[in-house]
Amino acid sequence: MKSHSLQLKHHDQGYWFVVNRGKLKLTTESLSIPFGAWNQQQITEPEMICHIGQWQEQPCYLVVSNDQQQEPEQWHSARALLEQAEQVWFELASRAVQLALFLQTHRYCGQCGSKMQLVSWELAMLCHKCGHRCYPRISPCVLVAICKEQQILLARSKRHKPGFFSILAGFVESGETLEQAAVREVYEEVGIRIQNLRYAGSQPWPFPHSLMTGFLADYHSGDIVCQEDEIEEAGWFDFAALPDIPPVQTLSGRMIRQLQAETSADE
Ligand SMILES: [Zn+2]
Repeated sequence: MKSHSLQLKHHDQGYWFVVNRGKLKLTTESLSIPFGAWNQQQITEPEMICHIGQWQEQPCYLVVSNDQQQEPEQWHSARALLEQAEQVWFELASRAVQLALFLQTHRYCGQCGSKMQLVSWELAMLCHKCGHRCYPRISPCVLVAICKEQQILLARSKRHKPGFFSILAGFVESGETLEQAAVREVYEEVGIRIQNLRYAGSQPWPFPHSLMTGFLADYHSGDIVCQEDEIEEAGWFDFAALPDIPPVQTLSGRMIRQLQAETSADE
């Protein structure tokens, strides 16, 4: 998508994705993206403004702000938009937050140290001195939902509170396919072998720049052995008696509920 640095006029109208140190400015009443004219937004000295998309024929702008004086109650994680009825808000917010991070962390060339500039016709930062060009980083991550008869394997990582379980997740390493990463992660985290991998969907996850890719798999062999320092506990759960799981707006939450619905339909 075309995206470049802009000089706006006072009356330019659109949706304003204002990002300051990873947080989005949302309206106080409804926790939504502010809409209106540029001169109503009360943003002092924006560092950079880019066009990041369109929603219902209105432009969407990213404004990277470094203003430290803003009221803290206005700033929220993109997660606050997950529960909006329209999924598009979380997707646009993900894009905005990730691009802001990219712009803020690529001011200087990683190869020669010179100042970098935003390319006018594509979303990239370019060093005019040595020609090094960078694109926004996206870190692919696999989620694997493993079934064995009428049960699903769920695990709790050290990051999760007691009682909260999810499917296994891990980052794809350099040179790996998504499928290889899924097989490796499952074996590393719980010591079991899987088979019959099927793609289940994807979701951008801007914390800070992941792309979740979901797979369903069947159990093949092995006993659960939790990876130390990573997995606190793991086990097979009946679909009729699931513990606390991620919300339905997340890919993992959606996959677990889908399998649960399919299993109860089979009975
Ligand atoms: Zn350079």
